[in-house]
Formats: sequence, structure tokens, C-alpha cells
Amino acid sequence: MVRHHKEGFTWEGVDVYPYKEEGTHFKSITRQTLSMGTSQFPVELRYFEIQPDGHSTLERHEHVHTVIVIRGKGQVLVRDRIYPIEVNDVVNIPSMIWHQFRANQGDYLGFLCIVSSERDRPSRPIERDLEYLRSSQEVADFIRI
Ligand code: MN
Repeated sequence: MVRHHKEGFTWEGVDVYPYKEEGTHFKSITRQTLSMGTSQFPVELRYFEIQPDGHSTLERHEHVHTVIVIRGKGQVLVRDRIYPIEVNDVVNIPSMIWHQFRANQGDYLGFLCIVSSERDRPSRPIERDLEYLRSSQEVADFIRI
């Protein structure tokens, strides 16, 4: 079965939603669910797009992400390091590791993200976590909460 793409980074029969229903801990990001998986293969494929200078939530959770960048350039925090990312780069987010995606100024960042259909809710950092994260100056300068 083929789901054809439309103009730009949109697909036939796929609605474009805000990244999350509520909250202010992210900025300028949309979500599209491209594939829901099946009971035999309970995996979802989503496309997220962050506008220039936008960012995803700083979070961690038990479930893992596999991410493939397909548009633009940005940066990602994984654990305690910040990596530049661009088209065709692949990012693996392990279980319970802090992560946050950011588009560069002047660049969109669009990526496919594969996750288990059954997954736990993300948690956001509390003060003690922020202290740990901010023990690296590079991370302190990068994160947005
Ligand atoms: Mn996540």
C-alpha cells in the first residue's frame, strides 16, 4: 500500500496536527501520523516538523525513538551531548534518556520518528534533573523548558 506525498512534506489523507494537545514547553512544531502499524506490528511512523528556531519538549520516557531526518538542519540533545543533524542522519534515543530537538535559526527540521504503538507518557525534568542537565554548560545553553 502506498501513501503518496503531496506538495512539500504532507501526505494524502494525513492531517497535520499540533505536536501536542497542550503545553508551552515546545514551540512551532507539527505532527503527522503516516502509519499506525497493526496488532502484529505495533509500530507507528510519524513525521514531525519544527519551524526555524522551534523546539520539541525536553523529555524522557521508557519507550525508544528511531528518528530519520528528511528535511533541513538542526540539533538534538541526547543524554548530555548536542549533535548537529541534517537530512539522512539517523538518531536513536535510548530508554529514559533526556532528549530535545531543535531546528536551526533559518532552517526547518523535519524528521520521521518510529515508536511503539504502546508507550509510556513522557516525563519532563524536575529541578533535580535540571541541575544535572545544567552541569554541562553546553547543555545548559541548549535546553529550553
Ligand atoms: Mn520523546
